[in-house]
Amino acid sequence: MPVSPAYRPEPRFFELGADYGDAVKSADFPQTTLRLRNDRAAATVGLETLSDAEWIAHFGRFEPLPGQPGPVAMRYHGHQFRVYNPDIGDGRGFLAAQMREVPEAALLREQGDRDTQNPRLLDLGTKGSGQTPWSRHADGRLTLKGGVREALAAAMLESLGVPTCRILSLIETGEDLERHDEPSPTRSAVMVRLSHSHIRFGTFQRAAYYGRKDQIEALMEHARSLYHPAIPAGDATGFLGAVVEASAALTAKWIAAGFVHGVLNTDNLNVTGESFDYGPWRFLPHYEPGFTAAYFDQNGLYAFARQPEAVFWNLTQLAGCLKLIAEPESLAAALNGFGPSYIRHLRAAFLNRLGVQSLGEAADQRLLDATLALAREKKEALRWEPLFFDWFGGFSSAARALGGVRGKTYQGEAFDAFRFALMEHEPDRPERLEHPMFAAPEPEELLIDEVEALWSAIDADDDWAPLKSKLARLETAKAAWSL
Ligand code: AMP
Ligand code: MG
Repeated sequence: MPVSPAYRPEPRFFELGADYGDAVKSADFPQTTLRLRNDRAAATVGLETLSDAEWIAHFGRFEPLPGQPGPVAMRYHGHQFRVYNPDIGDGRGFLAAQMREVPEAALLREQGDRDTQNPRLLDLGTKGSGQTPWSRHADGRLTLKGGVREALAAAMLESLGVPTCRILSLIETGEDLERHDEPSPTRSAVMVRLSHSHIRFGTFQRAAYYGRKDQIEALMEHARSLYHPAIPAGDATGFLGAVVEASAALTAKWIAAGFVHGVLNTDNLNVTGESFDYGPWRFLPHYEPGFTAAYFDQNGLYAFARQPEAVFWNLTQLAGCLKLIAEPESLAAALNGFGPSYIRHLRAAFLNRLGVQSLGEAADQRLLDATLALAREKKEALRWEPLFFDWFGGFSSAARALGGVRGKTYQGEAFDAFRFALMEHEPDRPERLEHPMFAAPEPEELLIDEVEALWSAIDADDDWAPLKSKLARLETAKAAWSL
């Protein structure tokens, strides 16, 4: 069956015109084997009714969905590891479609009521769909392993409540790729992600680089009206403030999730504060501020605890672009909101991970500090994810945590301080602990050894069952954390 009656095309980026993107065609792949089909994500935009053959036609051969004008490679620049690069842009992907979220999905996401629901504008963006005018000398392709890793990162982040793109589709494309960071030749794939916008800080940087005040204005109005509609028309400072706020919330949630993005370049940050583009990401095995994900990040610029600084630096670049249309003093004030906003969101994110209610700023801060102090003292003896799993629900979990596999770890001065700070707080919806996930000895994690093992089943035996079962478990975990 084709798209469902709930599907609502709304190709808005395409209206901006030829200065912002280039019409492109996808590569003609020798093979299109459907590997992952995320029907739960598809249902949020009315695409779950597609047959597999239709799915492959749209997400492997990129026949446009109804009401969509056809693929556009987006133009953008970016600072990569703080060096400005005017030669990037969608070099192996494109914007394939835009549509409104189905109202029921918006309702569920916001857990709000029908009157305040706010169906978002969502994009289908590709990775590995072929060369574009921005490919430079590269092949425009994605490795199958890269696609698998990206699907895993997005699923884990989603399960932990971090605003993230969702991987809608992964189709294997039957080519042999050469990569220096994978045993080669290696298998190829094309991925489709469902994102709340692909407008990057770097999209603004390109317009500023060419001194195009008119383009900055048009882009800002476009992004403001679609993604930050509470900000009044023409208010560039208010727009920056909204991006600062959303980015601070995102960064705090990465930290609480133990996530290291790996490549926090300005072309990888979205004006909606939704995270995307997962390349060399890692989850923290245990608390280690200097933990770095990308092997090519030798100086640890994007290490775990430096992510707030990296995001802030990127926001200053966005502010610099907006100077063409707003007062520098007011932009600076908006930018300076980052620090206080980040720490506020960090406290909230830790409370949320520990499943307890706020008790006011001072007590919440004590709990944040005590949690980090415990993690720092125990190091390898207490992995990041199990700490939150064991103590989820605060005192409701004391017997479970102390009687569990890590029971003996929970002693000493740092633990006493942690327990004291935690027990001050009331559990938040402790009925969530009745979910069977909490009866298991270990939580769902996504450390590098498991990622490699999931890939190696595919690589060695073309066995997709372990990956699919992991994705299903992450979906269950999402339900357990958020019930
Ligand atoms: P990323 O690190 O994935 O954010 O990519 C940075 C830039 O390099 C973007 O402009 C990508 O489109 C481009 N790029 C990365 N890999 C390829 C590739 N295999 N072919 C063409 N462009 C690529
Ligand atoms: Mg990128």
